Amino acid sequence: MATNARDHVTIGVLALQGDVDEHLAAMRRAGADAIPVKNAADLARVDGLIVPGGESTTLMKLLDRFNMAAPVVDRVRAGMPLWGTCMGMIVVARDVAGLDQPSLGLIDITVRRNAFGRQNDSAEVGLPIPALGAPPFPAIFIRAPWIERAGAGVEVLAERDGHGVMVREDNVLGTSFHPELTADPRVHAYFLRMVRESQAQNVGKRREVA
Ligand code: GLN
Repeated sequence: MATNARDHVTIGVLALQGDVDEHLAAMRRAGADAIPVKNAADLARVDGLIVPGGESTTLMKLLDRFNMAAPVVDRVRAGMPLWGTCMGMIVVARDVAGLDQPSLGLIDITVRRNAFGRQNDSAEVGLPIPALGAPPFPAIFIRAPWIERAGAGVEVLAERDGHGVMVREDNVLGTSFHPELTADPRVHAYFLRMVRESQAQNVGKRREVA
C-alpha cells in the first residue's frame, strides 16, 4: 500500500522566488514526486504546496503579478495542504506585526519578521519538536520570523525563546526555520503525512457522496 501511495503524491514548490531546489530535493528524498509550481496549470497538478524561504514583500508582489494569489488561496481553502517555510510562513499568515504588509491570511497567526535580532541573524539550533520524536531537530534560522500570536485553532509544535516557530492549523503548516537546508527529513516527512491524510479524507468524502 505504502509504495502505491508513494506513486500518487506530487508536491509542488512555489517557484516564483526563494530556495526552491533545496525543497524539491528534500521532498524527493522523503519519497514524493516534487515539481516547481510557476502557474495555475502547475498548481492544478499538485496534492500539496510548499512556499519556500526568500523575501516576503517581493513574493507578495510576484504572486500578484503572476495572478497566483487567488489560485493558491482557493486550493488551500478547498483543503490542499500548504507548508510555508520562513518567508513562506509570513506570506500565508493572517497578520504581519508592526507592518502594513499584505499577506494571504491562510493561518490564524501574527508573525514578526526578522524577529530574533541582529546577533541571531543566522543560527542553527537543536530544537525540541515533540511531534517529530525525541531527538532535537537541527533547525536553521535565517533572518527568521517568530509567531507573536496564534489563534485558538492553531497548534504550536515548537518554540524558541518562548515564541512559536512551528505551527499548524488544519491543512496549513508553518516553520520559521529551513528544514530543506539540513539532511534531517522529519519535517518533510511530517508534511507528506499531512498530504496523504488529506487525500485519504477526500477519497472518504467522495465515497460518501457516491
Ligand atoms: N527575512 C525574510 C522576510 O521577512 C524571510 C527570510 C527567509 O525566508 N529566510 O521576508
